[in-house]
Amino acid sequence: MVKKTYCNMLSRSKPGPGDGGNTGSWRVLRPVINLEACIPVKTKRKSCFNCWMYCPDCVVSKTIPPVINYDYCKGCGICAEECPAGAISMVAEATSNTEEK
Ligand code: SF4
Ligand code: SF4
Repeated sequence: MVKKTYCNMLSRSKPGPGDGGNTGSWRVLRPVINLEACIPVKTKRKSCFNCWMYCPDCVVSKTIPPVINYDYCKGCGICAEECPAGAISMVAEATSNTEEK
């Protein structure tokens, strides 16, 4: 008897980096990681990675150190909110970027 599983009957999507499109110049704030406070960098162990896990656009790498792909980061601030070490700050985009608008 073949065992049926629901997971084979449901449609699923797996978001990937850049699926939300290139961010362009409209982002107001960008997340910056303070590597001195980042847990995997400090411990030299693959741990935490909340920023990688919670980023809705999948643009943070699960590496030591974690790296943010600013081409696609939307500046939502979720990573900064979820970082248990407070290692991510949302900083204003460069003035030159703002002046372009
Ligand atoms: S959530 Fe914060 S402490 Fe954890 S890996 Fe990301 S930057 Fe480092
Ligand atoms: S600001 Fe948002 S989109 Fe950018 S890296 Fe953080 S969670 Fe991802």
